[in-house]
Amino acid sequence: MKKISRRFFLSALPSGILGFGMTKSINSNFKPLRQSSEDEQSLKIKKYNPFGKTGLKVSDVSCGAISLFEPNVLRYAYDLGVNYFDTAESYLRTKSETFMGQALKDVRQKVIITTKHAFPSQGEIKRENIIQRMETSLKRMQTDYVDIAMVHSVDNLSMLENEEILAAYSQLKKDGKVRFTGFSTHNAKVTLKQALSNDFAQIILLIYNHFEGPEIEPLLKEVHEKGIGTIAMKVFAGGKQGNLKSLINAEHSYPQAAIRWVISNPNIDCCIVTMSSYSHVEEYIGASGKPLNRDDLKLIAAYRRQASNQYCRVSCKECLIACPNNVAINDVLRYGMYFEDYRMEKEAILYYAQLEDTKKPLSCSSCSGPCVRACPYGLDVKGKLIHTHELLSV
Ligand code: SF4
Ligand code: SF4
Repeated sequence: MKKISRRFFLSALPSGILGFGMTKSINSNFKPLRQSSEDEQSLKIKKYNPFGKTGLKVSDVSCGAISLFEPNVLRYAYDLGVNYFDTAESYLRTKSETFMGQALKDVRQKVIITTKHAFPSQGEIKRENIIQRMETSLKRMQTDYVDIAMVHSVDNLSMLENEEILAAYSQLKKDGKVRFTGFSTHNAKVTLKQALSNDFAQIILLIYNHFEGPEIEPLLKEVHEKGIGTIAMKVFAGGKQGNLKSLINAEHSYPQAAIRWVISNPNIDCCIVTMSSYSHVEEYIGASGKPLNRDDLKLIAAYRRQASNQYCRVSCKECLIACPNNVAINDVLRYGMYFEDYRMEKEAILYYAQLEDTKKPLSCSSCSGPCVRACPYGLDVKGKLIHTHELLSV
């Protein structure tokens, strides 16, 4: 795949197609940065950080591919210096891995790729099956190896004591199909602590943003000092700026401020942000290597004022024990966030459809709502759950 010039891209595409990409952007106030050849030179990744003890160096702003509409967008990110790309077997029902291969196969040696596989907590886990799933992922990505293989969405590292999982990844490493291992988590308060005594965790992908970062700071430092690579996700803390009036019209970009807040932490090696359009790529890369400034902090403060009682801290879970019906409150609200704030409508509906009925908010209307009283952030949990169920049920 050849290097893509933005000018070529803009002139070669019908405006309708470009418009699609632009409307998918979750940021509405961003003005394209690349208006001259000088801008083209300056809009590049400016910082690469050591990646744990792997010996690799990773772009501070990197690319997540949970939602992606064409491989050229990934390639554009690569052309601007992004060298770390994150996907998963489940993203876009495996298409994200396929796009990854299409975009990056001819520069494979120059990039670091992660893919992730989830294993159900119930049911049989078989080593051969894990190996076979990884091999199928490699085929889709048109590569012989993956740099980092993660176990996807781990709430408790006791799962990584499963002998079949350990044997499978050990075999994959021996065969040269996996270089490093790790996990992604929505429960960093527990899993980071466990990772301090777990050798599987060479790299961790965790939620880290200005709402959810501060309380895990000490653990994050310990993990990083142990030599584990750290990647931040969900850095926009809900990505609600497209729905908040004062931020739509803000002079500066909230996503850039939120990214800088995250990557200014020396215990974070990089962040991944979903780059599903060309404007995303330009906007997010524009935050690379720059220190957090006063305008960023003002913007973040404005966001926090408006979004604090709207944003479900996915890693919090305080309300779960209050619910007599075992509703997966934070998962349901996360899927709602994908739909309304990230504009990933199809994916959100699909994720919700995959959730067991017993975990859906089916009896909320007749419940007195102890979850609302349990939420320390003042979310109208019950109302949001009922609304989300209506939104995502098809
Ligand atoms: S309103 Fe719904 S989620 Fe909240 S406690 Fe009742 S059943 Fe559980
Ligand atoms: S207590 Fe509030 S913020 Fe925490 S998981 Fe529940 S709804 Fe989300």
